Amino acid sequence: LAKHSGRNRLCYFTDVMRTDRTERQQLMTDLREAPAKEQLRLYYQPIIDLSSNRIVKAEALLRWQHPEQGIKLPEEFLGLAEEAGLMSAIEHWVFSEAASQSVYWSAFMDSSFQLTINSSPLQFTQSISRRPWEAHLDTFLNSRTGIVIELTENIFLSDSEQLTRNFAELREAGVQLALDDFGTGYSSLAYLKRFDVNYLKIDQSFVQENVPGSNSHAIAETIIMMAHKLGLQVVAEGVETAEQRDWLKAAGCDFAQGFFFSRPMPASELEPLLRSGYIHH
Ligand code: C2E
Ligand code: MG
Ligand code: MG
Repeated sequence: LAKHSGRNRLCYFTDVMRTDRTERQQLMTDLREAPAKEQLRLYYQPIIDLSSNRIVKAEALLRWQHPEQGIKLPEEFLGLAEEAGLMSAIEHWVFSEAASQSVYWSAFMDSSFQLTINSSPLQFTQSISRRPWEAHLDTFLNSRTGIVIELTENIFLSDSEQLTRNFAELREAGVQLALDDFGTGYSSLAYLKRFDVNYLKIDQSFVQENVPGSNSHAIAETIIMMAHKLGLQVVAEGVETAEQRDWLKAAGCDFAQGFFFSRPMPASELEPLLRSGYIHH
């Protein structure tokens, strides 16, 4: 590239942009067909109770099995999905798939076991007929597996009646709520009590830079203390080392998930771990 003249470089750059745009367009077309072509997958990452070391929950994480490009992560296609107006279709698929999985797990898991599902703020605040979980509430209700919906703090930017109603109805149906990536978004502590969430998930940035005495360490400890005072439980995300696990446990953190315990995996691979109840290192 350096060998080309300025003019050629400019052309080359334009070509790259053009290819990029065509690729994006193609990806969008592919994504539009992904649900119907059964290319969407849910992977599951176990969540561990730090006091008993048992697997007590599993988080559903979306993957796209692209026919040519292989497994794609949410960051590679959720932005595109939003742009293309595909989030509603995708989240409907997520809740439907999670509902089937919760019924399957009900057959052999303890009734305290919970499946956690991520929802985008926009889909969460849809009106009743368009809410992605609407068609599956009865399934969740009748399943022994508990359901937790994970939302980011930004949900509170839309302080609408629909939000209040959705919270109340889900709680009534026995669905619990968690605030994801806690401490990184729009945090107004007043909302914690008003909206009656069950769990705070400490963002992995506070977990991974846990040099003792550092700010991250102090922030994580403060979140744990505050949550407990408010009667909430805490899940630490992104736990990658035994040191991080030990430190979180000592700080009184209730639950943890991360590569140290297990990567997200297909349900069939998770099943033996769920049946044994533990992850062995
Ligand atoms: P999240 O809900 O905060 O999920 C945690 C992310 O951290 C996951 O990334 C997970 O694979 C990753 N992770 C877990 N343990 C570790 C660790 O020890 N180290 C590191 N570095 N990362 C770890 P993933 O699966 O790529 O998902 C990214 C985000 O995409 C999620 O963040 C969530 O916001 C969103 N997402 C995933 N599935 C869905 C879905 O079904 N619906 C919606 N609306 N959003 C989803
Ligand atoms: Mg999450
Ligand atoms: Mg998170």
